[in-house]
Amino acid sequence: MQSILDIVFPKTCSICSRKGSYLCERCKKLFKRTLPECYGCRRLSSDYTTHGKYKELKRISALDHVFVCWEYNSLTADLLKRYKYNYVYDLAGTLSEFFIENISNSSFLSVLEGSILTNVPISSNRLRERGFNQTLEVSKTLANRLNIPFSEDILKRRNSYGHQSLKDRDERKALSYKDFVVNSNFNISSYKSITVIDDVITTGSTLESICFCLKKFWGEDLIVNAACMFRGRAYYLKQTNQ
Ligand SMILES: [Zn+2]
Ligand SMILES: [Zn+2]
Repeated sequence: MQSILDIVFPKTCSICSRKGSYLCERCKKLFKRTLPECYGCRRLSSDYTTHGKYKELKRISALDHVFVCWEYNSLTADLLKRYKYNYVYDLAGTLSEFFIENISNSSFLSVLEGSILTNVPISSNRLRERGFNQTLEVSKTLANRLNIPFSEDILKRRNSYGHQSLKDRDERKALSYKDFVVNSNFNISSYKSITVIDDVITTGSTLESICFCLKKFWGEDLIVNAACMFRGRAYYLKQTNQ
């Protein structure tokens, strides 16, 4: 049954404006699925494992496994802008579902076994501006659907100005690096790894800072993964298409 909302504000595809959904089946096919690759060198890596060479080089800021769903290009960049700034609220839900469907059909599922999910935190100032943290919503839905533990209390992000997101007392006990502060009260011992959910990898510096922070605090042996919706075109594709 159609809801009143659907009649008053009919859903239209965020890309082609066709009526019926926020992302139509035809436009979903335009999303370019990326192949399992190594986060560091971006060459193929069957189970999304980062190669040892890169890990040696980057030490504790090297993520262990990184899942990237789709190629970041002009089509998806435009879509992501609308999703990020919440112009179309339900687009986040639609995009999460599509993301989950792709993760569920990938070999990254085995990486998620025994892991706890968390999202890239945003500062309280940013949250006030936007009223919405998109990666939090995606992470919660993903955790729920795949029945994986989730916590948004592993890390906090400091405001670049004004008051801090953790009380000073807590922050002194914890470890902070760049914008991030680890929650020292969080008990990580029952999990095999931490998997951070993000929407787009550009330079990778955010995820690498998070990884550094977590491993510095809980030790080098802690496995830190990431699952991301988008990342720019990979090296292996550039090479074959030129
Ligand atoms: Zn469409
Ligand atoms: Zn590599």
